[in-house]
Amino acid sequence: MRLGSVPTSRCGIPQPCSPCPRTFYSNRNIECRDIENIWGGEWAREQRQRGSCQPSCSFTSAAAAENLVPQVDWFHPEVPRDSDGRILIKNLSKEDLVAFCRDVLEEEFPDKRAFQLWRWMYSDFCWIRDVNEAPADTVQNGFSASFREKFNLVASLDGGLELVEDHMAHDGTVKLVFLLTTGPGKGGKIETVLIPVVREQGSKERITLCVSSQVGCAMGCTFCYTGTMGLLGNLSQGQIVEQVVAARRFHYERFSDTEESKGRYVSPITNIVYMGMGEPLDNLPAVTGSIGTVLDHHGLHFSHNKVTVSTVGLVPQMKDLLDTTTVALAVSLHGATDEVRGSIVPVNRRYPLQDLIAALEEYFPIDSKGSPHVLIEYTMMDGVNDRPEDAHALLDLLQHVKCKINLIVFNPHEGTEYSASLQEHVDEFRDILIRGGRVVTVRSSRGEDSMAACGQLGGGKDARYNR
Ligand code: SF4
Repeated sequence: MRLGSVPTSRCGIPQPCSPCPRTFYSNRNIECRDIENIWGGEWAREQRQRGSCQPSCSFTSAAAAENLVPQVDWFHPEVPRDSDGRILIKNLSKEDLVAFCRDVLEEEFPDKRAFQLWRWMYSDFCWIRDVNEAPADTVQNGFSASFREKFNLVASLDGGLELVEDHMAHDGTVKLVFLLTTGPGKGGKIETVLIPVVREQGSKERITLCVSSQVGCAMGCTFCYTGTMGLLGNLSQGQIVEQVVAARRFHYERFSDTEESKGRYVSPITNIVYMGMGEPLDNLPAVTGSIGTVLDHHGLHFSHNKVTVSTVGLVPQMKDLLDTTTVALAVSLHGATDEVRGSIVPVNRRYPLQDLIAALEEYFPIDSKGSPHVLIEYTMMDGVNDRPEDAHALLDLLQHVKCKINLIVFNPHEGTEYSASLQEHVDEFRDILIRGGRVVTVRSSRGEDSMAACGQLGGGKDARYNR
């Protein structure tokens, strides 16, 4: 999809800079000073101090340049479009948006235009759905009538989702139901959950957002309500990003923009977990693309250690994710032997515990100092995986893995053959792990009465996928 060219610059400096992720701007007729103005001074100043944007730069390789210069074939069938053939730009990275402004909109200053669009789409309290929602160019950073007309002919800010329902549980958890308006899952519904987390007295409340990555799921875990749907389609990068944008918009409008709160943005959404419907690593390109957008500090600005991707254990894709991003990883283990795990997590037959644990030992060695840990998720089901011998097997299995263990008491749903572990069994299991030197948390169930809890997503009996 991308071709390349050798960067040159207006000032004639052979531009640059192999360690520099944003050097492609240098062949857009701008100089280092312009980069400071456009993308924020701090980063560019740092680059200049390091000398990576100086004439002494030794970058001359056309081959290396190819990876730095985004040139997109806009006629490629993979570029997502709406039913009018307009490009859905929430599927683009910031770099590709610059290329879009250059190649399709033919803007004189594509970097500036891309930045302007990006800020209106993703910055706090902007979250526009249409360029017409932004002010006119009589206001700073507004859009002119001619730009709107040109833009609306070829592109759309539509995220491919429409919020159709919201349900609040007694504990404040809110389930958002979205109708898919584009893509392979068009006509179906997905769910996103806002989970308020109240910590100890005196500390700030925070909100975690649980996003979906697929319509249904192909993994077929036997205890999971979503798994009973099968896989009905992957979400696009834009549809994953739009869940975050729509949730921020919803949360602000519902809870902050009120008379009582006086417009204060109470409890902002600070954390994202990719633990909603679907196996995120079964839709890796869209998931990693969306991660790039949610981490971008000029837009949605989530911290990389506040974003967690959960997997049921697709080992090659898990390595890809860890090699290319810095987000946190959670692994849904649910069993400490191949026999137990294989009976509830079918993918264990493809990637048995030996392979999965070897990969975790490689990326999260127990004796590493200061490096991240992996979160091990273990859903506790009565008589299935909650015996003391299961806890001892778990300790043995993870003895070389730097991890924290999160025990989740099973959330029952209609039609399931499983039931939740008894409290005394959970306590005993937890105590064995703690005595074995592990950090253990027991996750309290959230949103159970709205079918918004873990393993319950996919709609109630009357709201199943409908296409
Ligand atoms: S637990 Fe996760 S991976 Fe397993 S079926 Fe449910 S959504 Fe898919």
